[in-house]
Amino acid sequence: MKAHTKETQATLTPDKAIAFLKEGNERFQGNLKANRNLLEQVNDTSEGQFPFATILSCIDSRVSAELVFDQGLGDVFSVRIAGNFVNEDILGSMEFACKLAGTKLIVVLGHTSCGAIKGACDGAEMGNLTKLIEKITPAVNAVSEPKDEGLRNSKNLDFVDSVSKKNVELTIDRIHAESPILTEMEKNGEIKIVGAMYDINTGAVNFY
Ligand SMILES: [Zn+2]
Repeated sequence: MKAHTKETQATLTPDKAIAFLKEGNERFQGNLKANRNLLEQVNDTSEGQFPFATILSCIDSRVSAELVFDQGLGDVFSVRIAGNFVNEDILGSMEFACKLAGTKLIVVLGHTSCGAIKGACDGAEMGNLTKLIEKITPAVNAVSEPKDEGLRNSKNLDFVDSVSKKNVELTIDRIHAESPILTEMEKNGEIKIVGAMYDINTGAVNFY
């Protein structure tokens, strides 16, 4: 498999970009890999990069976007932060990736059993982590079930995963609310912004 070029990137649509990622995740789940020579891709991409997707995911060591979607060099922009939320800097990175570098798709990729989400469910506090966790708290509050306070913590994995899903939805809302550039591009059909969830038990990515 060759690295993407200006020409291949130009022929891509947002739906085709989703299809590429779905195919890559199918390969990953089947323990297959596209036949690519990474060293050759170093050479192919040395003059420039033409990735097709931008993926915002967690820092979790089990959720590397390049691995779980079986992608090579020059294929995706990978933004990673614990809890996969956005702030000004991450929105700026996404605007660069789509508006200037031509990617056709933004995926906000949450995952099951996320430590950052668990921390938010428990109201954890520690050093700089406290501020990070506070950014996920709105997702905790936006999940209404269960009502019983005793079940609204990290021991309840169904609750944790519901909060992860809500966090992805709120992150997409925030991209729309705070990035007129990306919202405009989506309106024009130049990009799509989608949510997805990675299951750490199976290796499967479910797109919403
Ligand atoms: Zn995580």
